Amino acid sequence: MYTISNVKLYIDGQWRNGSASRALPIKNPATNEIMAEVACAEPDDIEEAATAAARAFQDWRKTSVFERYGVMRKAAQLLRERVDVIAAYMTMEQGKPLVESRMEIMASADTIDWFAEEGRRAYGRVIPPRRPDVYQLVVREPVGPVAAFAPWNFPVQQITRKLSAALAAGCSIVVKAAEETPASSSELILAFADAGVPKGVVNLVFGDPAAISSQLISHPSIRKVSFTGSTRVGKLLAAEAGRHMKRITLELGGHAPVIVFNDADIQLAAKTMVTSKFRNCGQVCVSPTRFLIQEDVYEKFVEVFLGATRNLKVGNGLDDGVNMGPMANPRRVSAMEEFVGDAEQLQARILLGGSANEGKGNYWQPTVIGDLPVASRAMTEEPFGPLAIMNRFKHFDDAVNEANRLPYGLAAYAWTRSAKTAQQIAANVETGMISINHLGLGFPETPWGGVKDSGYGTEAGMEGLEAYLTPKFVTQLGLSDPGMS
Ligand code: NAD
Repeated sequence: MYTISNVKLYIDGQWRNGSASRALPIKNPATNEIMAEVACAEPDDIEEAATAAARAFQDWRKTSVFERYGVMRKAAQLLRERVDVIAAYMTMEQGKPLVESRMEIMASADTIDWFAEEGRRAYGRVIPPRRPDVYQLVVREPVGPVAAFAPWNFPVQQITRKLSAALAAGCSIVVKAAEETPASSSELILAFADAGVPKGVVNLVFGDPAAISSQLISHPSIRKVSFTGSTRVGKLLAAEAGRHMKRITLELGGHAPVIVFNDADIQLAAKTMVTSKFRNCGQVCVSPTRFLIQEDVYEKFVEVFLGATRNLKVGNGLDDGVNMGPMANPRRVSAMEEFVGDAEQLQARILLGGSANEGKGNYWQPTVIGDLPVASRAMTEEPFGPLAIMNRFKHFDDAVNEANRLPYGLAAYAWTRSAKTAQQIAANVETGMISINHLGLGFPETPWGGVKDSGYGTEAGMEGLEAYLTPKFVTQLGLSDPGMS
């Protein structure tokens, strides 16, 4: 049994409270009990963090790539060694089952390793010149100190994608992690500190999100911003970043369509999508939500989907065999009530679930709704919860039109045995990522990001490193030129 202790800020190599000693409670979503407190940063503390990052950047950028690689690999190893305790903290503060917490931490360690390696391949290039005595080089330099804002749904992985790309590129960073899930995030930063990352290179703060983002984005030392969270907040931060001419990567909301064609492997499709839908209680930006099922296989798909969903064990994520924990916070439970209430008013069929569990904790039953009108709230807004919608379509174009109807474009899924249909659906759905006939998203080496209101820029993959690098063109006249003598 592990106990979460009070979580501190990490600024310029020191673990400490904020200058006004303010703190927020850390609650267990399975019981609603307060477990500990997280320190809040004041404007002075944020100034210190940004200044420390600016100072440390000057040395870190010159630290050899091989040395940076060594520190990062060590941090990844420490995460793996500490997986039991960090996973317990994550489940206690976020709610997801222990097995998912462990997977997230191990996947984060892989991501750190991958970016450590990729940093060694941040190659430039030589451009053929227009005269023989000129050298033309493109070198890729770190963009500068980074401000990163990460949410509560994946408290380790969401930071890792930003942090490891930044460090590999030679950037320093100030991370504002989620106040609701600070203990596991802080363990990630501790692994880097223990691995020997120099002071000031990595800083961790918590507090008032709007005040901190405003201060950091406008801070002259900060050169790059990365945010994962809602589209609403992403647009606010994009506007601020624009005002201050800062580069920004935005990974925002989604409303993933799942297109199931008549020729799909229905058993495989339905069972795989149940696993994906209810992972992390549906609080995943790529969570499958709008199931668009071709008419002939609608009944069969829904039957298998419901069967597999009924087998899910809902409970405290620390308990053995639990497949789905509570929602991370009471705001999500209220949101589920509103989505389902609206669907009921529109006479949609609630095929499963549709209400909270009795007793303590932010529990919501796995919920499946059939034939939901497109005007409903759940068909328009991101549910970000354990809610799947089963609608029908007739023709290929109907499915594509529905998939592209919303302003979101993060992830999409399709199931078909036809190579031609697979190729056409990949080409026609407006999305940053599409996974066909399996779950294939989210590896360190593959790009992760959306289009339209789902954001811009990419995390992970070689494009993920690119976001933290800036090209510098160097043109040099050779010394053998007679004009130089
Ligand atoms: P929210 O919009 O208030 O906050 C989302 C995240 O942004 C939180 O981590 C919050 O701390 C942070 N945030 C809020 N205002 C900010 C600001 N001005 N500057 C910097 N950070 C700020 O909503 P919420 O209730 O916490 O989450 C619900 C919604 O957020 C969901 O519906 C979902 O769309 C979205 N979300 C998306 C992801 C993702 O992975 N893309 C993760 C978490 C939440």
